[in-house]
This record gives sequence, structure tokens and C-alpha cells, in this order.
Amino acid sequence: AQEIRLASRPEGFPTLENFELVSVAVPEPGEGRLLVRNLIMSVDPYMRGRMSDAKSYVAPYEVGKVMEGGAIGEVVVSGVEGFAVGDKVLHGSGWREYAVVDGARAVKVDPEKAPLGAYLGVLGMPGLTAYAGLLEVASFKEGDVVFVSGAAGAVGQVVGQVAKLRGAARVIGSAGTDEKVAYLVDELGFDAAFNYRNGPVAEQLAAAAPEGIDVFFDNVGGEHLEAAVASFNNYGRAALCGAISVYNAKASDLPPGPRNLGLAVGKRLTLRGFLVWDFDHLQEEFVREVGGWIAEGKLRYRETVTEGGLGKAPEAFLGMLRGDNLGKALVRL
Ligand code: NDP
Repeated sequence: AQEIRLASRPEGFPTLENFELVSVAVPEPGEGRLLVRNLIMSVDPYMRGRMSDAKSYVAPYEVGKVMEGGAIGEVVVSGVEGFAVGDKVLHGSGWREYAVVDGARAVKVDPEKAPLGAYLGVLGMPGLTAYAGLLEVASFKEGDVVFVSGAAGAVGQVVGQVAKLRGAARVIGSAGTDEKVAYLVDELGFDAAFNYRNGPVAEQLAAAAPEGIDVFFDNVGGEHLEAAVASFNNYGRAALCGAISVYNAKASDLPPGPRNLGLAVGKRLTLRGFLVWDFDHLQEEFVREVGGWIAEGKLRYRETVTEGGLGKAPEAFLGMLRGDNLGKALVRL
């Protein structure tokens, strides 16, 4: 069996040298545990944070140790009541072909109800992030004008569509390629979208939202956040979900950040950070509502699945950080 270990900590943008593919024995599950053969795994932006040893809300990966992350596999040995050989389970021990998983940390998923990848994306952690961030953190209400950064990614593609389906007056997205911009407008029904590489974000946002914005769902930070502060109407609300524009910056290269936060006072803005793990209470409602929209064909999503096995996971991860993915980035094992 194979696993991927963190070989070294990146400085700035990571490289393939930061990862090591290692052959190991297939582990023994032991009592009360499952042996799972992984079928598909997630590569996520937060993993970049865990490759560093800077203090953060999750412990760093350890150099020389196998990495971890969301994955779905098939149970091959079960010592846990309620789990049978052949069951598909969602768990946190990705980046390896075979995982030993505690029964309490495995969630059974139904491949008849949705393709396995959906449980790592639109119906999984990124989908709940979108749902909770928009509806609860940003207190979205019908009639709001909504701006989403990172709009064509796993989280962003769900945010914009939930906003439309819940009655937004106007939904605007930004992304890093013209193809992604076309996807947002032509396939997902965003009212407007722009490529942030084509010019200053503040100018492009002001043109796309001539009457200002009420809600900003921020996946990117930096220049995007500054532009949103400038475009906010009074009582605007931002859900600060991520700041991927600075994840790969060396400490010495960090941008100054939003320079116009003084405007937040007069506009009475609410800028609220959040972590998806605080929103378990929305899980059921989220699956019911978003799952329903998918079944009715009202909510669409894309996945970018890298084929070729575990050895391709580092490339898929770096590709996601560069923006190669449309929708959720996944690796098929
Ligand atoms: P995505 O599927 O959106 O993939 C990352 C995307 O980021 C890339 O496709 C790329 O798209 C974009 N990107 C990369 N570099 C930059 C840059 N310098 N400026 C602007 N965009 C950039 O990832 P997710 O949907 O999984 O995550 C989106 C955000 O949500 C991340 O910030 C992540 O950390 C955060 N997150 C937060 C959670 C929470 O609990 N708070 C939970 C889950 C995710 P493009 O081509 O458009 O540049």
C-alpha cells in the first residue's frame, strides 16, 4: 500500500518536493476499527495551512508523517457493529490507499443517492460551508445583492446558486479565468461575473454592482475584501470564509490588507469569520434543501477529478492552489 507524507514544509508556493510517496504494509485494523480502501480523496485549500507550522486552528501536519484529509473508501475489514464489508464511508484519513478508521469517525454514505465525490463537495464539507456562511454567518435575506469571490470553486459555486434560489436580487461572482466566468453566468445563472486577473477588482466589482452589494462571501481576501468594503451598502455583511490569495505568500510578501476598513464604521458593516465545524446544527437542513435542489436539477455543480492514483494527489493539490480546478478538486485512487 502507499501513503503520502509531508517531506518538508513549503516556503511560499509548495512544490512536489514537499511530498513523499512511500510504500507501507497494509495496516491491521484491530478491534473496534475499520480497514478502509480509499476510492476518492479531497484536496483542499486548508491543507496548505497544515503544511506550515504557523499557529492555526488545526494542528500542522508533521514532517515525515502521513498527511490527512477527507476521503471516501470501501470497508474491507469491519470490527465495528453497523458497518459491513463493502460499505462506503466518509472519513478523515485520506492521502493513503488503506486507512484504519475508528467507527465513531466514519460516516456511511449511499452511492445510490449521489456519486461518491459529491459527499466530499457539493453535499459535503464545502457545501455546508457555503450554506452556513451565506445563510447564517452573513444573515442573507431575500432581495440582497450578493458578491462571491472564488466563485467557481467547490464552495463558491454553491454559494452563488443558494443565493439565487433563496431570492437574491443579484448575484455577482469573481474567478481567475474567462472559462470560469462563462461557467458562472451561462451554466449557474449568476447575474454577472468577472475575471479578477483582467483588471482591478474594485473597478470590475463597481461595474458589476452599480447599486452596491449587501452580502460578500469571501474565499479570497486581500484585494477582493478591499473592493467589497468599497462596494458595500450600509449594513452590509461579509462572511469571511477564506483568504486563499495570501495562503502561499511568504510573511515578507504579505499585502497590506484592506486599506479602507475605516469605511466599515460609517457603513455599519459586519465582517464575520467562521469555521464550518461550528455549523453541525445546519447539516440536516443543508442536505435536505441542497440535495433537493440537485435532484430537481435546480442546482448544478462541477468536479475536477484527477485520475491516476494516489501518486497524483500532490499535483492535484498544487493544481487546485493554482486554480486549475473548476468546482471541487478530487483525486481518484
Ligand atoms: P476552491 O475549489 O475554490 O479552489 C481554490 C481556488 O482558489 C482555485 O481554484 C483558484 O481559482 C482560487 N485561487 C487560488 N489562488 C488565488 C488568488 N491568489 N486569488 C484569488 N483566487 C485564487 O477551494 P474551496 O472551495 O475548497 O475553498 C474556497 C475557500 O474557502 C478557501 O479560501 C478555503 O480556505 C475556504 N474554506 C473555508 C472553510 C471554513 O470553514 N471557513 C471551509 C472550507 C473552505 P481561480 O481560478 O478563481 O483563481
